[in-house]
Amino acid sequence: MAFDYDDNNIFAKILRNEIPNDTVAENEHALAFRDIRPQAPSHVLVIPKGRYVSYDDFAANASDAEIVGFTRLCAEAIAKEGVGLDSGGQGFRTVANTGVHGVQEVPHYHLHIMGGRVMGPMLA
Ligand code: IMP
Repeated sequence: MAFDYDDNNIFAKILRNEIPNDTVAENEHALAFRDIRPQAPSHVLVIPKGRYVSYDDFAANASDAEIVGFTRLCAEAIAKEGVGLDSGGQGFRTVANTGVHGVQEVPHYHLHIMGGRVMGPMLA
């Protein structure tokens, strides 16, 4: 199975409240918290509460309710951080590093939302 989930990954521990996090927003299906090594003035990670390894695992296997809940929480975090066009911000970048070629460090799906400065060009 391509999507074997490791319950010992650090985001699973955050979801079990075994290690602390700097929460931005939360709902039934997802949690948004600040990246511990921010790459931008605003750098939030949004993770589903379900056991999904990667973007493609989540996109293929999450329920409609989980996908909607996750996406709405992204909108809430973007608004709270004040980076969204809808809240007077100047925009942001989303990144979902996936697998070996995507250089994914933590094997629990997460979406990076980075804003507060002009991003560099999208280079490998
Ligand atoms: P990726 O898997 O390469 O997309 O990146 C994982 C991200 O998780 C990195 O940006 C790390 O800084 C971040 N990270 C790792 N551990 C923690 C933590 O305990 N709290 C918040 N962010 C973390």
